[in-house]
Amino acid sequence: MISIVIPLWNEEEGVGALLSRLSELREAAPFPLELVLVDDGSTDKTAETLAPLLPSFPHWKLIHLSRNFGQQAAYRAGLDCATGDAVVFLDADLQDPPELIPEMVRRWEAGAKVVVACRQSRPERGLRGVLLNLFHRVFKLATGGAMPENSGTFGLMDRVVAQHVRALPEVNLFLPALRTWFGYQQEIVWYHRAARTGQPKQTFRKLISYAWDGLTSFSEWPLKLIGLAGLVISALGFCYASVLIFIKAAQFFGFFRDLIVMGFTTLAVAVLFMGGIQLLCLGIIGEYIARAYRETKQRPIYIVERMEQSSASRTDES
Ligand code: UDP
Ligand code: MG
Repeated sequence: MISIVIPLWNEEEGVGALLSRLSELREAAPFPLELVLVDDGSTDKTAETLAPLLPSFPHWKLIHLSRNFGQQAAYRAGLDCATGDAVVFLDADLQDPPELIPEMVRRWEAGAKVVVACRQSRPERGLRGVLLNLFHRVFKLATGGAMPENSGTFGLMDRVVAQHVRALPEVNLFLPALRTWFGYQQEIVWYHRAARTGQPKQTFRKLISYAWDGLTSFSEWPLKLIGLAGLVISALGFCYASVLIFIKAAQFFGFFRDLIVMGFTTLAVAVLFMGGIQLLCLGIIGEYIARAYRETKQRPIYIVERMEQSSASRTDES
């Protein structure tokens, strides 16, 4: 059985289309499906719209989280409840086509433990598109390619990999790269990412925090850069100081008498520049400390308020 884990947050307008695409997939696919839907604290009628559509699937689970915990936590909640031999992560907004799942399953049956879907093209334009592209470049540079470039959460993992992910204690989740971190045989399938139905639910704030989680949990480069910046700035400062001392000494012996070293401007610029750099560096170090602090607190990643499931799923578990 293949489990499809889908997080939903205020997706009321899109769930009808999602379930009808999944229903077509279920009828055509040569493998049984388990739907694991996670309502991530929706404040609209997502769960009410969803509930009557579910009984046409023999195996389904609907997990209600106690509040909005964020996309990655919702995926993790679904993963923890999935019982399939392989688990597929799929966003609810149909930007990633469910029709690609049979191809992923074929690669998995041929031996791949992780199948990652990579975007040949994406519809996001403007600032969002620029930031997404920038993130993928920086992430690749900083981590040495911890995950395939232009991949996202859409993908399949074998139950062995799923078990490894479940055993991770990490609170700062970045599942696309965690999934590939364990190694094993990995494959890529390509697709064109479609436009979204409805408004993006990953707001800029959530996207930026997600990107930082990814970067900080897979790279220590920002910290190393601070050391490097310190070294370069100290070297420049040393050179400048040497020149000033040389001029002062030369003036003492009667040379360069007409040369006036500009004091205040140089000092003000240097102090402001260094103050800015130091605060920036402290901020970066603070981000790492905050993440380490969050890990040490060991708070749960999500809270399940209640779970509904089909009778077939209940029998499977007993
Ligand atoms: N989502 C969620 N909780 C959140 C934000 C988003 O469960 O706090 C879900 C959302 O319902 C969708 C998926 O995460 O199924 C991806 O969200 P979105 O399409 O807005 O993100 P993007 O396509 O920009 O990555
Ligand atoms: Mg989307």
